[in-house]
Amino acid sequence: MRKQFPYKLLTQKMFCCRCQRVTEHALFAREPYSTHGGMEPKIPLLCSCEVCQNIIVCFSNEFRFGTSEEHADYTKIYGHNRIQPGNWLYFKKAVKPGLVKSCFQTQDKEIYVLTYGGTKDEKVECPKCPVESEVAPEGYRLLPAQSALTLIGDHVYHAIRDVFGVAVGYVNDGEKDKLVVQMDDNSLLFITLPQAIQNLPNAKLSDMTRNKLMQFFPEESRHVSVTVGQGIVYLDGLVKNLSVKRAIRACVNGMQRARGCVDFMKIRAESYISDEQVEKSILSLLETPGLRVFNYKVQVEQGRVQVSLGCIREFFPKEIESKIAEFPGVLELEVKIDSIPMDEMENTKVCRELEYELSVNSRLADSLIRVNYVNEKYLLEGKVHSLIQKQLAMFCVARRVLSTSIENRLRIV
Ligand SMILES: [Zn+2]
Repeated sequence: MRKQFPYKLLTQKMFCCRCQRVTEHALFAREPYSTHGGMEPKIPLLCSCEVCQNIIVCFSNEFRFGTSEEHADYTKIYGHNRIQPGNWLYFKKAVKPGLVKSCFQTQDKEIYVLTYGGTKDEKVECPKCPVESEVAPEGYRLLPAQSALTLIGDHVYHAIRDVFGVAVGYVNDGEKDKLVVQMDDNSLLFITLPQAIQNLPNAKLSDMTRNKLMQFFPEESRHVSVTVGQGIVYLDGLVKNLSVKRAIRACVNGMQRARGCVDFMKIRAESYISDEQVEKSILSLLETPGLRVFNYKVQVEQGRVQVSLGCIREFFPKEIESKIAEFPGVLELEVKIDSIPMDEMENTKVCRELEYELSVNSRLADSLIRVNYVNEKYLLEGKVHSLIQKQLAMFCVARRVLSTSIENRLRIV
């Protein structure tokens, strides 16, 4: 399986079941993702113990990567964090944390106004307690209450034991799924996760997945094999095109009781299709009359397709990505769309007039020419049938706009 995950993203301290201790794990992905600023959820990551090479699969949303803007569920601890209004604040030995509405200081005291969810706010006075450096500036997960929310890498505070630590993984002890926490004194704590997020037994998850795929993909799912383990669904087999592959993957990722899916499905090669043919069919699609796209670029390399295009926001081509994903020969696809509001487009009147003029010019019959003003130049895109037509279109535009900033990207087909 390691070969299927060629890109090393980072290393992370995690609990290794084979070593029975916390070790450095290398995290590998199937694409060269960046973890800077967080990661999309449900991306499978292969975690490999750097001591014994034991591997497990986890998902991007099970880790706390770098800086996340979403701190709503983290709690600050009095004496360990700097506090601001809007923070959850916990005083050691309290029953639960409160939400800080305001805070102020006197010469020797800090005063907090908190709400604990009741009708009346509470005012708490404490001795002044300056915090010089914060171990976890964003706050902590409060254990055991927040065990279901805790991500690998999260700083935690165990309220009953009054110890701090870091979450280092999930394990199954043969009966229950547990969160593993390494405490500051290096001891390990295994906290049983709530029933609602315990992984389903393999047979049950496997049946659920099969039934769901049969229901939504009656034809295609006959060629897809389903294997499950630890709440993870592994898909293999051959499917018709990238669009189906994505839809099946999304369907499994949408199942509430599955942690995520690892997609090993391949696209059936009906007949050999060259990159050049794929590129041509995408360009023809982009040059469908009525589609208001411009400044488009298509790159195809061994079935990996990258498309970038501009569009007018009011005419956003919603279906374009799924249509491209249906083309045979498209194995991977990335579409970037730059959508510009209609009233921010420049020189639209002259562009529309030019398009009309060109479309009724008998010497340009059967061509499709789009004119847009993009990046401070007139951009000609579309298709004609000869070099003479290409030059003629250019001449018509130059004569009309009296500008030299014209780019002629017309294709001769
Ligand atoms: Zn190990």
